[in-house]
Amino acid sequence: MTDFPIFDGHNDTLLRLHMSDDPPSFFTESSAGHLDLPRAKKGGFAGGFFAVYTPNMNYEAEPEDHMTENGYDVPLPPKVSLEQALTFTHALAAKLFKLESEADGQLKVVRNADDLRYCLKNDILAAIFHIEGAEAIDTNFDALHVLYQAGLRSLGPVWSRPNVYGEGVPFRYPSSPDTGDGLTDNGKALVHECNKLGIMLDNTHLNEKGFWDVADLTDAPLVATHSNAHALSPIARNLTDKQLTAIAESNGVVGINYAVNMLREDGGLGTDISLDEIVRHVAYIAEKFGIEHVALGSDFDGTTVPDSLKDVRGLPKLIERLKAHGFHDGELQKITHGNWVRVLEDTWK
Ligand SMILES: [Zn+2]
Repeated sequence: MTDFPIFDGHNDTLLRLHMSDDPPSFFTESSAGHLDLPRAKKGGFAGGFFAVYTPNMNYEAEPEDHMTENGYDVPLPPKVSLEQALTFTHALAAKLFKLESEADGQLKVVRNADDLRYCLKNDILAAIFHIEGAEAIDTNFDALHVLYQAGLRSLGPVWSRPNVYGEGVPFRYPSSPDTGDGLTDNGKALVHECNKLGIMLDNTHLNEKGFWDVADLTDAPLVATHSNAHALSPIARNLTDKQLTAIAESNGVVGINYAVNMLREDGGLGTDISLDEIVRHVAYIAEKFGIEHVALGSDFDGTTVPDSLKDVRGLPKLIERLKAHGFHDGELQKITHGNWVRVLEDTWK
């Protein structure tokens, strides 16, 4: 184990495993996607938020088909039904629990900060059950309570498409994140219910009005698990300085996303970029808003990452670039895992 075990804000590995016809085992090193257990160990990837996300089936919208004069503007996908989302959520959550039971003690679904610290110390992959987009949650919150008992500890009210709780930002560059209405009344009630249970609310993907609604209502630190600085890359998914200030003032955290189009100043999809593009976003938030408020949020298995990183095995090279930028050991410990542990401890009951 390295001095800097990396606890990570977001991966879509459960979705990759579920959608592949014949996926290689998570416990065997392969070149499929970005993440499996042997590669995690090689890269110093100590765990993270394992997203349960329901895709729109038989629906494709590629940025190449929606180019504008200086970027792209992809329409939001249609809603998915509660029934479809709940069935899919059960399937992906079951996948996570099956991984835990097959892992022979090497992977644990963590439910409190002590679990998380124990895993980090003992080289056990720590997985948080996270839902990205709350379509599976009925507005009586019955599913929320049942899923909490199963281990759910983090929830994003929306992915990009609209649902009964609110609306996310479209895949649009250049664009402000202020793209639509805020949370619905159901969305506001969801914030209260998550606060009561101690489920972390993830503001990633929310539009700016929705973000301010959460900021007004929540009693927990503000979090964006996989988002970057809008000042450096003005895509709708990234956070403005005003939003970053609010996150810092709440003692919250942002996990930096390795998606090339969210790192690059030009919003482009080209993957031939240096790891210093990731460092640039980390340093911007650390230096302008405070080292306590920046962490990592790869989006492994859910996005296109720089060729220079390739997959989770590239993380030691990223740590080297962060050191070269001038971050010392105490700062690296905060960026790689300490800030996540603090925020989760403050949020979970
Ligand atoms: Zn996402």
